[in-house]
Amino acid sequence: MKVTKILCSVLLTILFFQSQWILAQEVSQKEAIEAIFPQGQKGSENFFTGNAYNYGLVASDTSLTTLVGNVFFEPGARSNWHTHPAGQILIITSGNGYHQIEGQPKQELKKGDVVTCPPNTRHWHGASPDTGMQQLYIIPNTEKGIVVWMEAVTDKDYLK
Ligand code: MN
Repeated sequence: MKVTKILCSVLLTILFFQSQWILAQEVSQKEAIEAIFPQGQKGSENFFTGNAYNYGLVASDTSLTTLVGNVFFEPGARSNWHTHPAGQILIITSGNGYHQIEGQPKQELKKGDVVTCPPNTRHWHGASPDTGMQQLYIIPNTEKGIVVWMEAVTDKDYLK
């Protein structure tokens, strides 16, 4: 009888911690995809692999000449290779992803990371295969141009 009681309490303890663990997993999943801004417009498949959504925040005008917006990449989604004539700043606000400048190793990104890309430098950015990514982009000196799109990033390059 006493053994049964002990076994029961052990079992209940295991079940309790297991449910807490599942709850924690669910919370961290939710945090990973929680968005600050609305999802926005789906990016063209001419420029993105997978589902990426753009939401403009600051339109470039002649006085500020800076473009600011948010891109939400679903898992596996990424931009094509491209350049920015005046460079770009990325601020990761949630999830996990990558930024790669051609010829350099792929850089892993997480919430709070800030990366810059120099002017006229071939690169791509996007989500990790399993987790989406939200990134704020800042493009300065738009009088020089905003973006020059190139070919898609192959699965081989993406997963390298
Ligand atoms: Mn870029």
